Amino acid sequence: MGSQIAVVGGSLGGLTAACLLRDDGHDVTVYERSSVELEQRGAGIGFLPATYRYLQTRRALDISTISIETPFIRYLNRDGSIAHESEHRYLFSSWNTVYRSLLDQFDRDRYLLGHDLIGFETGATGSTLEFSNGVSAKCELLVAADGIGSLVRTSLQPEAQPTYAGYVAWRGMVPEQELDPVIAAQLCDAITYFVFANSHILVYPIPNVDGSVAVGERLINFVWYRNYLKGGDVDDLLTDSNGVRRELSVPPGMVSEEHVAELRAFAAARLPPTIAALVLATKQPFLQVIYDIEIDRMVFDRVVLLGDAAFAARPHAAAGTAKAADDGWTLAAALSEGRDVDAALAGWEPVQLRLGRDLLERTRRIGRRSQVENTWTPGDPEFIFGLHRPGD
Ligand SMILES: Cc1cc2nc3c(=O)[nH]c(=O)nc-3n(C[C@H](O)[C@H](O)[C@H](O)COP(=O)(O)OP(=O)(O)OC[C@H]3O[C@@H](n4cnc5c(N)ncnc54)[C@H](O)[C@@H]3O)c2cc1C
Repeated sequence: MGSQIAVVGGSLGGLTAACLLRDDGHDVTVYERSSVELEQRGAGIGFLPATYRYLQTRRALDISTISIETPFIRYLNRDGSIAHESEHRYLFSSWNTVYRSLLDQFDRDRYLLGHDLIGFETGATGSTLEFSNGVSAKCELLVAADGIGSLVRTSLQPEAQPTYAGYVAWRGMVPEQELDPVIAAQLCDAITYFVFANSHILVYPIPNVDGSVAVGERLINFVWYRNYLKGGDVDDLLTDSNGVRRELSVPPGMVSEEHVAELRAFAAARLPPTIAALVLATKQPFLQVIYDIEIDRMVFDRVVLLGDAAFAARPHAAAGTAKAADDGWTLAAALSEGRDVDAALAGWEPVQLRLGRDLLERTRRIGRRSQVENTWTPGDPEFIFGLHRPGD
């Protein structure tokens, strides 16, 4: 007999865990705060094997239908010439394309939107959950996949607070047909980097908002890491066009006009022409603040923390969704070994703590080398994406 499992947070980490645990015979319900399916987040992700493992191995999905392969890593000089180029295959997708694919694999009547967890009580045999819509629910195991601002983590390990990394990621996507065809072609067959003083920007193609990966219909995505001092500097950036101070991100259309104007002027003056053209063509750039979160426990009786709720690592390894998915795969495997639940969780925790710590340490080092020390030279193998290590 499976256990009654509540997964709080229905993003990529929560959904992967929910599908796996459901497949193993557990009685799984997902509680998601958002009242609508999370379709609006169209930004790109480096698509590592752990993130697509469920879709590929359990559902036989052809991954090329939801991702774009780039055969090269390319670094540009300021004048647009190539500083370094090597063959390296990456897959890229978009958050909402992967989300839709995973959601199709889960039972819609067990994926409960509009359920914002506002409190819980937990003990040795399970938890009682309270949601803002007045619903309460019981479960034998609570899987907290509620992301970087996790209420569950904050309640159980209040000392594990997000630490600002000293920089933000400016982001944007442009339909390839809105760019000069020569520029679009140059930005679609590679991940393209420009590394310069205390900053770097990377560019890659992703599916469009409807999930199309057809040539001519793709989006070109950029992620540009820029330093802002803690305090007034970043506070001002995070104060949106309505004067509201945001914490984790400022969404498209909400970044203040002065900062968008500054981004454009800086891009025109400092970036290689092809990349500058992309930034300038972006109608609504948005931004996400880069935080680190480190914890020393992932299991609290019958509550487990998973994905960004446990460790949030900087995005430089493109491994955040892969780590969240790996937490789910290993959790499902541990629970299916036939041991009692407490023994299974005790065996699972140290392995995933190690994975989270290693990823955090590696991505901090990349961030330091890029944003502070300026020791990143084009083609440096340490900067290859990977969950466990560069390239893997
Ligand atoms: C700039 C940037 C670039 C990135 N690039 C990549 C990349 O290339 N590749 C990659 O794999 N990863 C990347 N990441 C990381 C990736 O986005 C995260 O690691 C990943 O989304 C974590 O997944 P998650 O399911 O753990 O949490 P989240 O995606 O944060 O989901 C948490 C979910 O919980 C819900 N929730 C929150 N609180 C409650 C509550 N109280 N009740 C109910 N529901 C709740 C939220 O609505 C949300 O749906 C990047 C991140 C950033 C910031």
